[in-house]
Amino acid sequence: MTGHVHVIGAGLAGLAAALDLSEAGLGVTIHEASPKPGGRCRSYHDAVLDRHIDNGNHLILSGNGTVLDHARRVGAADRLRTWPEALFPFVDLADGRSWTVRVPRTPLGAVRPGSRPPGASPWAALGGVIGLLAARPGQTVAEAVRDRGPMWRAFWEPMTTAVLNLPPTAGSAALLRAALVRSFFRGEAACRPVFAPDGLGAALIDPAVNKLRDRGVILRLRAPLAGIAQSDGRAQALVFAEGTRIPLGPSDGVVLAVPPGVLADLCPGLPRPAPGPAILNAHFRVPPEVAESAPPLLGLLSSNAQWVFRRGDVLSVTVSAAEHSPVWAMGRDDALDLLWSEVWQALRLGVPVPLARRLLRERAATFDQSPAGAALRPGIATGLRNLVLAGDHVRTGLPATLEGAVISGRRAAARLLTA
Ligand SMILES: Cc1cc2nc3c(=O)[nH]c(=O)nc-3n(C[C@H](O)[C@H](O)[C@H](O)COP(=O)(O)OP(=O)(O)OC[C@H]3O[C@@H](n4cnc5c(N)ncnc54)[C@H](O)[C@@H]3O)c2cc1C
Repeated sequence: MTGHVHVIGAGLAGLAAALDLSEAGLGVTIHEASPKPGGRCRSYHDAVLDRHIDNGNHLILSGNGTVLDHARRVGAADRLRTWPEALFPFVDLADGRSWTVRVPRTPLGAVRPGSRPPGASPWAALGGVIGLLAARPGQTVAEAVRDRGPMWRAFWEPMTTAVLNLPPTAGSAALLRAALVRSFFRGEAACRPVFAPDGLGAALIDPAVNKLRDRGVILRLRAPLAGIAQSDGRAQALVFAEGTRIPLGPSDGVVLAVPPGVLADLCPGLPRPAPGPAILNAHFRVPPEVAESAPPLLGLLSSNAQWVFRRGDVLSVTVSAAEHSPVWAMGRDDALDLLWSEVWQALRLGVPVPLARRLLRERAATFDQSPAGAALRPGIATGLRNLVLAGDHVRTGLPATLEGAVISGRRAAARLLTA
C-alpha cells in the first residue's frame, strides 16, 4: 500500500495504527466522531470535582509491554510510574479483615502464604490455575475453575469481573487465561501496577496526537463516518455524516478502528461481538492529607465498590459489570452515598463527607466477553482488500484492554503496509 490511509476512530487502536502508518511514510488522516481523541481511554477536566480525571480507572500492569512501548514511542514513558512491587492490598468489609497479596517472583512461589488470600490453600490455588489452563474455548471461568473456597471469593471472582467486565458465570475462561498468562503466570515482574499520575490522556493520547501532528497527520474531530461505498472487493469512498464524501484512490487504504456497535452499522455483514456491560466509576475529592492515607490501589470484598484507585486527592471507585450490581439501578445520589460509605469504611477515613463527588456510567465499556461473544470477534482482514479492522474487539486473543487495543492497531497497520 503506497497511497493515503484513512483511520476511522481516534481511540488507542486508531492512534497506534496511525503511528505505524505515518512512521512508514504514508499520508494519514484520522477521522474521529467525538470532539476529543482517546475514545474509552480519555481524560478531561471535570467541573464538579475541579480536577483532571480519566473517564474510568484503568489498571495497567508492567506485563502490558505493548502499552508501555506505545508510551515510549510517543516520548511519554516518564508519564507512567511503575510501582516498585506487585502488591495488591484488599479489605473485606464483611469482617474488616485486610491483607496484601504479594505476587511471587515465579508462579511456584504461590506456595508461600503471603502470595494468596487468607485461608486459601496452595492446592486450591493450583487447582484453579490448572482448571483455567485446561479450559475449553466455550467454557466460562465458573465452569473451568471448580474451587468455591476463599481463593474463589478473593481472587477468581474479583479478577474475572475486573478483567472481563463480566461475572465468572458469564466471562470466557480463555480470555481470562490470556490476560493471566501475560501477567500473574509470569510472576511479580509482570504484575507491578503502572499508574499515570497526570492521567491516561497525558500519558497515552495527547503525546500520540502531538507526534502524529508533527508528522503531518491530519486529525478531523466531530467527523463521524456514516457509510462506506464499496465495489469490486474494495472500499471506494468514505461518506461522512456531515455530507463530505472522500473518494479512495487505487492505492488508498482504510483502518476501521470503531467499537463493535458502530462496526455493525458501517459493515453490516461482518461478525462482531455485541457490546458488553457498563463500568461505573465514582470519583470523590477529599482533603490531600486524607488521600495520602490511602494506598494507590485497594481491592474491596463484600461490597458494591470493587476497587479504589487514588490519584492526587481523588479517590475513585470502580464497579465493573455494573448492570450486575445493585448500584446500577440506584439514582446518582444514592449510588454515591453507598459507594462513599464503603470507601469510608474500607479506608477508615477521618472525613465524613467528600469535598466533591462525581458518578460516571460508561456504557458498553467492553465488548461481550462471554464465550459466545469471544467467538464472534472479527479478524483484522475484511472482505474488502483495502480495509482492515482495529480495536479491542478484534481477534487478538486478549480481552478488551488497552494492551489489546494497541496490538490490534499495530497489526492492522502491518497488514495494510504489506498489502
Ligand atoms: C470505564 C472503563 C474502564 C476500563 N478499564 C480498563 C483497565 O483497567 N485496563 C485496560 O487495559 N482496559 C480497560 N478498559 C478498556 C480500554 O479502555 C479499551 O479496551 C480501549 O480504550 C479501547 O480502545 P479502542 O481504540 O479499541 O476503542 P475506543 O477507545 O472505543 O475508540 C474508538 C473510537 O472510535 C470513535 N468512533 C465511533 N464511531 C465513529 C464513527 N462513526 N466515525 C468516526 N469515529 C468513530 C469513538 O468516538 C472512539 O474515539 C476500560 C474501559 C472503560 C470504558
